[in-house]
Amino acid sequence: MRKEGVSKTERPTQADVVIVGNGALGLFLADELVERRIGSVVVVGPSDREAGASQAAGAMLGCFGETTTESLRTDASRTRFELGVAAHDRWPDVLDRLEGYSRTGSPLMVTPETHVVLNSIGADLDTVNFSAMIEALDEYGKPWEEIDPREIPGFRPRLDTRALRAVHLPAEGAVDARGVLAALDARLRATGAIMVDQTVRTLVRNDGEITGVELDDGHVIEAGTVVVAVGARSEALVRTALDDLDMVPSFPGLGFAMLARRTGGEPFRSVVRTPNRGFACGLHVVPGPGDLEYYGATNRLVDHVSSVTWMADVRFLAQYSMQQLDERVASHEVTRWLAGNRPVTLDGFPLIGWLPLAGLYLLTGTYRDGFHCAPLLAEHVANELQGKPGTIDPMFKPTRRPIETRTIEWSINEYVEHNLAGWFETGAEAAPQMTTAQIADYYRVMATKFYDTMGIDYALGPDILWYAQGSLLGARRVARYFHRLAGGNGSQPAGTATGEARR
Ligand SMILES: Cc1cc2nc3c(=O)[nH]c(=O)nc-3n(C[C@H](O)[C@H](O)[C@H](O)COP(=O)(O)OP(=O)(O)OC[C@H]3O[C@@H](n4cnc5c(N)ncnc54)[C@H](O)[C@@H]3O)c2cc1C
Repeated sequence: MRKEGVSKTERPTQADVVIVGNGALGLFLADELVERRIGSVVVVGPSDREAGASQAAGAMLGCFGETTTESLRTDASRTRFELGVAAHDRWPDVLDRLEGYSRTGSPLMVTPETHVVLNSIGADLDTVNFSAMIEALDEYGKPWEEIDPREIPGFRPRLDTRALRAVHLPAEGAVDARGVLAALDARLRATGAIMVDQTVRTLVRNDGEITGVELDDGHVIEAGTVVVAVGARSEALVRTALDDLDMVPSFPGLGFAMLARRTGGEPFRSVVRTPNRGFACGLHVVPGPGDLEYYGATNRLVDHVSSVTWMADVRFLAQYSMQQLDERVASHEVTRWLAGNRPVTLDGFPLIGWLPLAGLYLLTGTYRDGFHCAPLLAEHVANELQGKPGTIDPMFKPTRRPIETRTIEWSINEYVEHNLAGWFETGAEAAPQMTTAQIADYYRVMATKFYDTMGIDYALGPDILWYAQGSLLGARRVARYFHRLAGGNGSQPAGTATGEARR
């Protein structure tokens, strides 16, 4: 139980549970554990949450707005999708609990609704994902209505990128991510959790069990249970205690977004977004808090976690927000630049579960909707820590084999579609005599060559393929992982076969 006499500003030496990571996943879990009074809870994480995903998130509570043609195509992706559907129902209670701890002066729920627009820029990917969203809404019996895009408050794109169709989702909104994190932090301090404003350098083990964590300055906190929830840095931290673990690899999905003050024109009153497209979560604006508007977001898989922003991403977001959302954005005053790293796994599914070291639990890999799913995942993890049955499918355990959802041929096609969407959205210009089919062929050849060279028979998602295809380090990590897997199960080692991709 909680050690008496530990001041909340001091660093404790012992705890029942240490949660490493103070993003949405770590904080919601801590809140759930404190609610359940399961003992002393310590959360370790730097107060600036540098490079973290949660502090940069738009925090759309989106599940149907995020639908793609992939969402319901396989049993595994349907199970993943339904996490989002279930998570949605948790938010009214979450906000009731947190509102009293918020100091932002405006509601944590910045809008209860979303408009998804299908505009004339981009490519087929937008169209098919837009249709997939409508089918999913019907299948799950959720409310939606097709409206004239010109009726969306605040939405004033340039004429050449105007919307062709728009769907109103009255029950899918967004929260103020930074406000929610601050309220959670305040609530945790008030209810007895200990928040340590530092980073963990290494996990501490003794034979087959975890015994605690060592902070950057050498201070050790002993604990019987340690939960690693440091987002895109999780794999590296786990490896400080389990360096030869066969775990699904993960990569940082560096994203850029802006908070800006409107200086004129009609403000947005709902989330306005495109479907997911071109390797990313679509262009979107989230109104609030107050007179601010959040513009997001880029996504690029990178070798290392950092808080840098690519100049190309600044141009992308600024220019396309003006073109596709509201021409008045040009005179907005940017008050904050946000950069964060999404935890992206090789197979695109989260990593949630006990690791093969007694007392060590991993909670990460939530990619682009981890903020939304955090309260639901917290309930599941709290159950597991208490030795009770979990509340979600056990398929996400970190030591699984990568989940397969596509063939190599499908993977190459998806890669081509995403590249075409990116190509058209960014106004990329080829020689006039070049046709779309020729550009598609170019990307097809690149992807085919990649599989031939790698010799892997696991079909990657378009974002991982894009990354591994463009990064030597990325390609090596992917190849090495499959090589180990293949060696482990006695099948032909990836990368050492005939060089022919098996399609
Ligand atoms: C630009 C952008 C937009 C997004 N938009 C949305 C959205 O609209 N809706 C949605 O649901 N999701 C969104 N996401 C995804 C979502 O933010 C993530 O899935 C989720 O926040 C991940 O939370 P986390 O707690 O696992 O990781 P993080 O938020 O990354 O938190 C990890 C924390 O651990 C800390 N840390 C790192 N190393 C250590 C260490 N060694 N010791 C202690 N602490 C450490 C970090 O500082 C950080 O605070 C977005 C992400 C980005 C980047």
